[in-house]
Amino acid sequence: MPQLYDTIIIGAGIAGASLAYTLAKQRQKVLVLDKKGIASGGSGAAGAFVSPKIGKGSTLQMLTNEAFMYAKDFYLHTCPEYFHQTGVIRIPKDSEDAKKFSEYEKFNNMVYEVYSKERLHALGIGIDFDSFYFPDAGHCDALKICESLLRGIEVHRSNVEKLSFRDRLWICIPTQESRDKTFLSYMAQNVVLATGYESTLVDIRYMGIHGTWGTRGDFSSKLDLRVSMHQAMSVGSNVDGIIKLGATHEKEVKSPSPCSEEIAEGLKEKASSLIETSDLELKQVFCGMRAGSKDFFPLAGKVIDVPLMLEHYPKILRGAKPELIYRDNLYVLNGLGGRGFVFAPLMARRLAEHIVEEKSLDTRINPDRLFLKWCRRLQN
Ligand SMILES: Cc1cc2nc3c(=O)[nH]c(=O)nc-3n(C[C@H](O)[C@H](O)[C@H](O)COP(=O)(O)OP(=O)(O)OC[C@H]3O[C@@H](n4cnc5c(N)ncnc54)[C@H](O)[C@@H]3O)c2cc1C
Repeated sequence: MPQLYDTIIIGAGIAGASLAYTLAKQRQKVLVLDKKGIASGGSGAAGAFVSPKIGKGSTLQMLTNEAFMYAKDFYLHTCPEYFHQTGVIRIPKDSEDAKKFSEYEKFNNMVYEVYSKERLHALGIGIDFDSFYFPDAGHCDALKICESLLRGIEVHRSNVEKLSFRDRLWICIPTQESRDKTFLSYMAQNVVLATGYESTLVDIRYMGIHGTWGTRGDFSSKLDLRVSMHQAMSVGSNVDGIIKLGATHEKEVKSPSPCSEEIAEGLKEKASSLIETSDLELKQVFCGMRAGSKDFFPLAGKVIDVPLMLEHYPKILRGAKPELIYRDNLYVLNGLGGRGFVFAPLMARRLAEHIVEEKSLDTRINPDRLFLKWCRRLQN
């Protein structure tokens, strides 16, 4: 007889780890399953910079910055040793971009300072544009943060092949090869899919989850670099003799491929317009998929029963708007894009409040927003 959990989370990236931590704090009995182990997907590859979004006050910018404010406090509270609050300097990409920075200023709804070119030069940054400095921002040790959030929580290495729902309980069935001798399957009241770009366990095509491949390089260096920065790429402060450079956005990569040293060396070349890179030596390359949603907003909420909706309401394809029917106690936490370490803590909190306290979900993150549009596109 499999053990019974309140919630099983499939996926031990930053999404799954943040949610497991939050649910366990609410006294839930939680199990996390991951086919390759903690932070083995996009999360392990991330430079894991946690900084605000600049712009002209779009809804996505405001949500990102709410999540940023929450994330930095969350990491400082839960695992301060793995969050390096070095500040991040946001540098314009070119003179056109520099002109926009003055328009962006009134939407910087968090602590910031303008750094002049003289100030940048004094820090060893060879850029002539006025930039924004966000002192509360920083970067995480991605693997260590996920491990730390999951400390004391049951995590099994297991590749879930199938989900079935019987007698109001979910059963997670692992592949034959990844089956534990003691645990042939796992049983829970709730299941949360935090599987990143791989989302084939149930039909959630309407969420439009897709991957964008990225490469990051860790370089040894003696450079006295205490601040982090972001221009077209990010450069981390020097932590224990390592400077992180990242990351690329490789849209043509459709499934994981071996990490490329050549691409990582290219990042060093690019960083040379920002900092002195002569002593940087490549130590390790990381690569992985960022899972984004159709509209780039996070996905946190219930899963709609797609086959049932399409079968019962065929008129939905032509614009009918029937009441949505959901899979019982099945949820998703995904679509965190290139900002998983910024979004995950707040999205996990919102989803946990929904699961445990039945609080209604913020429409900006509720995946329902994408369903009817997706149905109408099926018609064409
Ligand atoms: C190169 C790179 C740089 C990045 N830099 C930053 C950054 O600076 N700042 C930032 O905030 N974000 C950054 N990101 C984005 C961030 O990494 C992602 O948003 C984050 O990884 C999303 O986390 P996740 O938990 O949703 O997905 P993932 O980390 O991909 O986790 C999904 C997990 O699910 C598991 N899984 C999938 N299917 C199954 C199954 N059937 N059974 C069991 N397990 C399964 C996988 O093994 C995986 O471990 C970067 C990403 C990349 C690739």
